[in-house]
Amino acid sequence: MAIKFEVVAKDASTRARVGRLHTPHGVVETPAFMPVGTAGTVKGITQGQLEALGVQMLLANTYHLYLRPGHEVVREMGGLHRFMGWPHPILTDSGGYQVMSLKGLGRVTEDGVWFRSHLDGSSHFLSPERAVEIQLALGADIAMILDECVEYPASHEALKRAVKLTSRWAGRCKKAFEEQGARDQEKEEPGVRSHESVVRQIPNPESRTPNPALFGIVQGGTDLDLRRESAEEILAMSFEGYGLGGLSVGEPKAETYDVAEFTAALLPEEKPRYLMGVGTPQDLVECVARGIDMFDCVLPTRNARNGCVFTSQGKLVIKNARYARDGGALDPACTCMVCQRYTRSYIRHLFVVGEMLAGILATYHNLYFYLDTMRKVRQAIEFGTFGDFRARVRGGP
Ligand SMILES: [Zn+2]
Repeated sequence: MAIKFEVVAKDASTRARVGRLHTPHGVVETPAFMPVGTAGTVKGITQGQLEALGVQMLLANTYHLYLRPGHEVVREMGGLHRFMGWPHPILTDSGGYQVMSLKGLGRVTEDGVWFRSHLDGSSHFLSPERAVEIQLALGADIAMILDECVEYPASHEALKRAVKLTSRWAGRCKKAFEEQGARDQEKEEPGVRSHESVVRQIPNPESRTPNPALFGIVQGGTDLDLRRESAEEILAMSFEGYGLGGLSVGEPKAETYDVAEFTAALLPEEKPRYLMGVGTPQDLVECVARGIDMFDCVLPTRNARNGCVFTSQGKLVIKNARYARDGGALDPACTCMVCQRYTRSYIRHLFVVGEMLAGILATYHNLYFYLDTMRKVRQAIEFGTFGDFRARVRGGP
């Protein structure tokens, strides 16, 4: 068993739950938000700051790391944990979503995805087996299957085709994961066959991930029958956790919530559920109420670099002239390092003159806001006050 997930508290009136996800590089408290470390870095934030923020797991993008520096370089440098100086859990995506979102640069076939690099136009092929190989080389604690994610709106035929292809790719990923995992162990410790003994013989357990997990992904767009069909096929293969893919791709928010709720209810209680690529702080709270345990999203970091800040009073565009003489904190209710030390006036000035500290401070605050929201969510579920907390977040400013 690569990872272990335990549910430690449940909310009485929603499907919200608090859990502990044990991974090879440590425990992650759920519901959890994973900042996105696209190319092996959460832009503008040091790994030490991520620790100070209470980040327990990062997401890294296979596509970007495959292109630069290349997964073989990362493997030679001791795996992604050592390469980037992050000894805590890492989840990698399969690369499929990014390849398919490269408009006009990707082409899906039965065998995998052909794509052109956005850097130099060179041609590459990502098969289910290759996606697994790259993620294992990176040393992910949790790897994702290669799936086909369809844009919104999509025809029933397109969604159905993606569900079926994702199921076939899931089977190939699982097979490759089991075979390649075993082959990796043999290559590094020749002559040793037993998985358990290999784990014990690794001189430095941080140099690569001895016992990673593979998550399946449920597709089906906003079609609930297809969601059910996809869940049944993916569940039959028994993965160690399940991603909900193909959401937050342009559908109305109410549909995101409905599909998340419907799909989460199809998944087993004892496995973690990961809603991929969603969303705002309010989305997180609403989807926790629907039974989701894990999230990732570029919003807090990407918005920060554009001067858009999340606060307890809603979103704030710090570049606006109205903040030029504002001596208050980004969020008066926030206790983060940025809000304790700097004023809106100063941070606006940094953005206006293009200082790199601007994005750094805004990113730090936004990540704090997301992680603090998840801390409060976990506490509220444990204390039996999640309903009140959710109502306050919903009510908003
Ligand atoms: Zn703050």
